[in-house]
Amino acid sequence: MGVLQASAVGICPECQAAFVPQQNTQLFCCSQHRAAWNNRMTVRGRVATPLMIAARLTRNGTRGGSTSGYRASVDLDTLIRRWRQEDQDARRMATVAYVDRRYALGFDPI
Ligand SMILES: [Zn+2]
Repeated sequence: MGVLQASAVGICPECQAAFVPQQNTQLFCCSQHRAAWNNRMTVRGRVATPLMIAARLTRNGTRGGSTSGYRASVDLDTLIRRWRQEDQDARRMATVAYVDRRYALGFDPI
């Protein structure tokens, strides 16, 4: 025991409760909250991923001769605002803070 260090306490992205991680890469307080978060991100990702790629590859519709890139960019912005509000209403961690935590714990998406 001793002094509890800030790094010894995790904040669950799904419920924002403080918890003591059992492993130093543990992000969530329990497997149910990990599954809830990941399932929701999977559903959102199915919608967002093609829009994000089309918007990025056309520089939001200004390159490549497709008008879909601009629409994809606008739709993606709308979805992100909607999801951000849903997360706030449900008192979930902001996605930017979640990504900060993932990087800080050493997760590497590449
Ligand atoms: Zn939780």
